[in-house]
Amino acid sequence: MKRIGLRPEIILQALKRLYRPPRSFLNWKTPLDLLVATILSAQCTDKRVNIVTQSLFKKLRNPQDYVRIPRRELEQVIHSCGTFRAKARYIQELCRILLEKHQGKVPRTMEELVHLPGVGRKTAAIVLYGAFNKNEGIATDTHVMRLARRLGLTRHKTQGKIERDLMEFYPRKEWGRMNALFISHGRAVCTAKNRQCEKCVFRKQCPSSLEMGKGDLSRS
Ligand code: SF4
Repeated sequence: MKRIGLRPEIILQALKRLYRPPRSFLNWKTPLDLLVATILSAQCTDKRVNIVTQSLFKKLRNPQDYVRIPRRELEQVIHSCGTFRAKARYIQELCRILLEKHQGKVPRTMEELVHLPGVGRKTAAIVLYGAFNKNEGIATDTHVMRLARRLGLTRHKTQGKIERDLMEFYPRKEWGRMNALFISHGRAVCTAKNRQCEKCVFRKQCPSSLEMGKGDLSRS
């Protein structure tokens, strides 16, 4: 992909200098916790998920617990995370599969993870990096997509194509940490509405910089 903005390595170096994010903004102790929390985080804030999982993870500790709990009860606990019916169904179905096919363990490959209900590449990449320290993809969420487009790292609009462009630009060893770095900048400065280019380290060269009188490439 031909880029139109700053050099990709300059962007990453700057973000690494600016932020020291945790491996995940979600609270978790086990790979199963992280998988469940990541599913709950779809269209929900990390803050809300962390409130919900505080009690959830005390009550439900392994796949058997998730399979045994009545669906209605699980729905009630996760209700405030939104789309709770689908999320409860995914979690119970995938826990059943973990017990049937994976000895009750969360699998450690992208291929196996994306075969679980409700798990796409983004969720799988987060779990692989967070729980197993494996760089098998770049978790391309809404912040990553917006920043990649604004910074001219991609012209694509879909998650899969944006991830592919980023994977071409960045060495595999950086893939896992990129999600939290992009989120950090996306929350602090390059917010969805009212981006604060005047405070941004990229303001002089970014192809979406308001300081340079540029339009927002994430909207084009
Ligand atoms: S200059 Fe503006 S648009 Fe570009 S990355 Fe910074 S905040 Fe975002």
